[in-house]
Amino acid sequence: MTTTEQPQHFPCPQCGAELNWDPSSRTLSCDFCGYQQAVGADERPEDFARPAIKERDLFAFLQESQAQKAHGYGVETKSVKCEKCGATVSVDPKVTSTECPFCGSNLVLEQAPDEALIRPESLIPFQVDRETAVRRYREWLGKGWFHPGDLKKRAGQSRIYGVYLPFWTFDAHASSDWRAEAGYYYYETETYWATEDGKQVQKTRQVRRTRWEPAWGRHEQFYDDVLIYATQSVEPKLLERIYPFDTSKLVPYDPRYLSGWQAEQYQIGLEEGWKLAEKRIKDKERDACAKQVPGDTYRNLQVSTRLSKVTFKHVLLPVWIASYPYKGKVYRYLVNGQTGKIYGEKPISWIRVAIAVVVVLIILAIVVYFLTRGGGGGSMGWLLLGAV
Ligand SMILES: [Zn+2]
Ligand SMILES: [Zn+2]
Repeated sequence: MTTTEQPQHFPCPQCGAELNWDPSSRTLSCDFCGYQQAVGADERPEDFARPAIKERDLFAFLQESQAQKAHGYGVETKSVKCEKCGATVSVDPKVTSTECPFCGSNLVLEQAPDEALIRPESLIPFQVDRETAVRRYREWLGKGWFHPGDLKKRAGQSRIYGVYLPFWTFDAHASSDWRAEAGYYYYETETYWATEDGKQVQKTRQVRRTRWEPAWGRHEQFYDDVLIYATQSVEPKLLERIYPFDTSKLVPYDPRYLSGWQAEQYQIGLEEGWKLAEKRIKDKERDACAKQVPGDTYRNLQVSTRLSKVTFKHVLLPVWIASYPYKGKVYRYLVNGQTGKIYGEKPISWIRVAIAVVVVLIILAIVVYFLTRGGGGGSMGWLLLGAV
């Protein structure tokens, strides 16, 4: 694949309409005449007999010239950038107006495609279809009583978008040498003076002491598919709620999977992504080394980690996103497009919370009243009720 490759179209051989990836049939299909075309393993099973997902050597790749790399998505798209939250999304060129899937804003402006964008090498195709995503969204919106009454009406108007989110995944072998002082607890009997009945008396007590001894060791581990979300359009904390993605189900990138879907462009580049992954791996190594220190406690832990066999993949993972503003704040609802796991944020109605508290107190007071009435303590119940 070279940069001169022409973007592709996927017209329907029967009627000429554009074919789109359909998660329910797992085919490229035509909305107009129902034609279906197999993609990937279903089309050429012989190519998929062994895992075809390549891990690339990170440092060799960073040395390569731009011309050697595959760029873009290999399919005709246009890029739109959200003026409000900064997310840049590739959309179908036929789409004339759109709103930002990440913040619901319609301040989106068309942008020239980013020539330097590294092409994804693999992805997990959408498996949850729109109908399912929308149905779950509506069910979820209706759940719970502590939310504003107009929530369903307001949030129900926001659209739900199927977006491929960009990730870097890194593999690395970590080897960590550590040294520390290992602390062993022991107890000593100490004598001290105390005042008892106005007299000075000598007493004893057990005191914990620590004996420090030098210690050292090595920890080795292979890290597989450390996942780094390559933008900040969805807060990582929120995104982690719909993890995991089963990355063993990645398929080689094929632009046909993107047909009819949006793809967010990465904003955290490969080198920056690696820095984040490196820190995450080194933090984990430090924790693992700390656990190896013998004794009851430790101090002055020094860890030196070497990382080798570092490889990466640029992957796209499927997520359904609905973003709806409520009283000036944007709330999000996410569906893992592979597993269907959902997570969403809802505003809280404090008036409803207050009403619920009052109702609970009244019920409690009534219960107390009936329990105490027989024993002549009825006034106690009325007192409580009065307090409510
Ligand atoms: Zn057709
Ligand atoms: Zn936005």
